[in-house]
Amino acid sequence: MSKTIAVIPGDGIGPEIMNATLRVLDALDCGLEYDTVEAGMVALDKQGDLLPQATLDAIAKHGVALKGPLTTPIGGGFTSINVTLRRHFDLYANVRPAISFKGSKARYENIDIITVRENTEGAYLKEGQTLSDDGETAMSQVKVTRKGSERIVRYAFEMAKAKGRKKVTAVHKANIIKTASGLFLDVARKIAAEYPEIEFNEMIVDNTCMQLVMNPYQFDVLVTTNLFGDIVSDLAAGLVGGLGLAPGANIGASVAVFEAVHGSAPDIAGKGLANPCALLLAAADLLDHIGQVAKGDRLRAAIRETIEQDREHVTPDLGGKGSTSSFADALVKRV
Ligand code: NAD
Repeated sequence: MSKTIAVIPGDGIGPEIMNATLRVLDALDCGLEYDTVEAGMVALDKQGDLLPQATLDAIAKHGVALKGPLTTPIGGGFTSINVTLRRHFDLYANVRPAISFKGSKARYENIDIITVRENTEGAYLKEGQTLSDDGETAMSQVKVTRKGSERIVRYAFEMAKAKGRKKVTAVHKANIIKTASGLFLDVARKIAAEYPEIEFNEMIVDNTCMQLVMNPYQFDVLVTTNLFGDIVSDLAAGLVGGLGLAPGANIGASVAVFEAVHGSAPDIAGKGLANPCALLLAAADLLDHIGQVAKGDRLRAAIRETIEQDREHVTPDLGGKGSTSSFADALVKRV
């Protein structure tokens, strides 16, 4: 059965890695059809809008999107397109796996940690950010709600259950940020009690960062508020060799947007140097999301084997001698 997804190639290296990803998806024969739409600089140039209504309509219609990195122009009053997308579709769960691949320049082997980050509240509010008239005092509010905390912690436990994960760690700073982080922790404890089959523990965010570096193997699924999730998931990506291998998903009740964590990498755009793996791993997670778990696993296995065995064809950031397209060619042969 075919399924149509919205595809946003994006800016910078976006079109190169999207092209590579779609070639591999076609070779996987998973019956996907693509409704290709624009966002970012390319949309601003052609349609006068960073995030055209037609793009929002396509994402809403198909419910699933694969998105390349987007450049938000600095200054000029432009709001981040990614933040706008999250708000528009209430994409409350940002799911960021950090998985190590043998043969990549990773600091650790056998890491498999998923960070589930609350994506809509916390410290990332437009409102509640003020600067005094004399410019000497800035205030930034943090918003945590019981409802927002419940749905993100429940998402983490349901995901853990579905993926056969063993442990969920709630990351917080309730010892100091007693109201906002305290509420999140209180909710996490209550929801955890509903899942006795999954081990639960709680850890203060600064200690979590140290523990991730000292002994990452103690972690399985992390669930946390917006800002802590942003930082902790980048730290976890660093453990497994950086952003070239880091996928992310933004999940809401009716829409899910899958993407690479990295940006549009203008320094290497058009040079054939971009590693397509982060977007490919996001595509594998997309396949899981639409129920094609076997195809998702096959894609992940092909990526794993290629990085491990095919140094000629992988991109320079992984220590290889290949290009974006030679990497895609090698994957097309393997899937
Ligand atoms: P970046 O992630 O684009 O690049 C950081 C460094 O990593 C660069 O040296 C780059 O060459 C390298 N890199 C990134 N992806 C790579 C890949 N796939 N293969 C090999 N090397 C890779 O971060 P930046 O330079 O800070 O941001 C550039 C632009 O991207 C900015 O406009 C920013 O707003 C945007 N951005 C978008 C997203 C998104 O759409 N999700 C995320 C982050 C940044």
